[in-house]
Amino acid sequence: MSGTQPPGDLLIGGVWRRASATLPAENPSTGAVEGEIARGTAADIDEAVAAARSALAGDWGRLDATERGRVLTRIGEAVRARAEDLALIEAADVGKPLRQARADALALARYCEFYGGAADKLMGETIPYRTGYTVYTLREPHGVTGHIVPWNYPMQIVGRSVGAALAMGNAAVLKPAEDASRSALAFAAIAVEAGLPAGALNVVPGLGAEAGAALTAHPGIDHISFTGSYAVGCAVQAAAARRAAPVTLELGGKSPQIVFDDADIARALPFLADAGLQNAGQTCSASSRILVQRGVYDEVVERLATRYRGLVAGPAMADRDLGPLISAKQKATVLSFIARARADALAIAAEGRIAEDAPAAGHYVAPLLFAGVDPCHLLAQDEIFGPVQVVIPFHDEDEALAIANGTPYGLVAGVWTRDGARQMRLARALKAGQVFLNNYGAGGGVELPFGGVGRSGHGREKGFEALYGFSTLKTVAAWHG
Ligand code: NAD
Repeated sequence: MSGTQPPGDLLIGGVWRRASATLPAENPSTGAVEGEIARGTAADIDEAVAAARSALAGDWGRLDATERGRVLTRIGEAVRARAEDLALIEAADVGKPLRQARADALALARYCEFYGGAADKLMGETIPYRTGYTVYTLREPHGVTGHIVPWNYPMQIVGRSVGAALAMGNAAVLKPAEDASRSALAFAAIAVEAGLPAGALNVVPGLGAEAGAALTAHPGIDHISFTGSYAVGCAVQAAAARRAAPVTLELGGKSPQIVFDDADIARALPFLADAGLQNAGQTCSASSRILVQRGVYDEVVERLATRYRGLVAGPAMADRDLGPLISAKQKATVLSFIARARADALAIAAEGRIAEDAPAAGHYVAPLLFAGVDPCHLLAQDEIFGPVQVVIPFHDEDEALAIANGTPYGLVAGVWTRDGARQMRLARALKAGQVFLNNYGAGGGVELPFGGVGRSGHGREKGFEALYGFSTLKTVAAWHG
């Protein structure tokens, strides 16, 4: 391999292969098809699972935890060294502005470093039991883990999910998203070159209904990590339930930020908008609802509107405020939400614009801020996955909490207030997997456990906590008299 160009379409058992069929790979900034990716089949998945099983019985399975950690750390160093190449691939494939793609590449390196360092730090315990017994627990890998990832943050999600699985000694089969598979393949090529034993990581791109469904239903998959939509997550969990396989579901959200009258508005403002617009709003943890207390409502809406009026969407390589959406289909979905809002006469507080040099066939949507939105309206309830935020006024803490918790989702929440007691109350009462007090997102947070409640899913990835999810506990009871 030279650079980050993988020498094949699929990686199975350490060998790169050509796929029997392919799918077009479109650049969302231009709408042009710039290559092709594998359309993996059920037979490819079968072989990948068999290769992973062999790896567990072979070189990969024989490595002790410290050695596994060293391999991951080497991969992290190699990713860091090629971060710019990876960023260029991701910018072209996903359409995200170059600086965001660069941040994602460095996050991938950081996941490998973090899980490399963590690989030999997860311990069992001894349990006081009856006289004559010694009882202890062992943390063991599930075996072969399946990883299904979406297109919005391929590098970050591969890093957090595959990184933790490998650290615990699982062998992985990865099915990247059909809209953006290239960085996953480039990562796999880097990992193999950095010394990852054959079969420890296998990559089979393809359609969800084909390769994805085959992976989910495969009897040789011992654990599934799924990141994507609620509807597909439910189908994945149902398929896994038929053989009682454990599943982690990282799904969508409708995450609120709550701004109280006493908040540091100047500090909050960049977070309020950016947390909703990063990656053109195609972020699971996007803060698409901004709840503002009446006393500062007009000021916050006006200052947000000023920010929106300066926002520009353009090609990924131009590195503007936001890029295009991933596909024509995603753009149509977002535009249908906007059409519904216009039909219902929702108040538009401000709109950004699309750059003049943005190719007409790219999938651009100008960012749009709605204010005074009824918390029950579709726009305040459903995940839009585009550059659209709604501002909702509230009177007091009780009302804010009811609105914040009033969707089926529960992924992330942010609270802006100087009142320490209120911070503590809301941190407990908010329905979310992560709560941020006077910040939002905490810079990506490789180290911070992440996941949802309700329709946002279950199980936790990221941080040390992920290692529990990617392992199983065995209790050993020895009687010795
Ligand atoms: P999606 O569910 O359509 O696809 C996700 C993945 O599932 C893709 O790889 C796809 O090929 C695969 N897939 C589709 N149908 C399948 C099937 N029947 N069986 C098995 N696999 C199948 O989601 P998307 O549109 O790619 O991603 C957007 C969604 O992902 C949003 O809801 C977003 O919030 C969510 N997301 C969540 C997180 C998180 O960490 N919680 C992170 C990123 C994205």
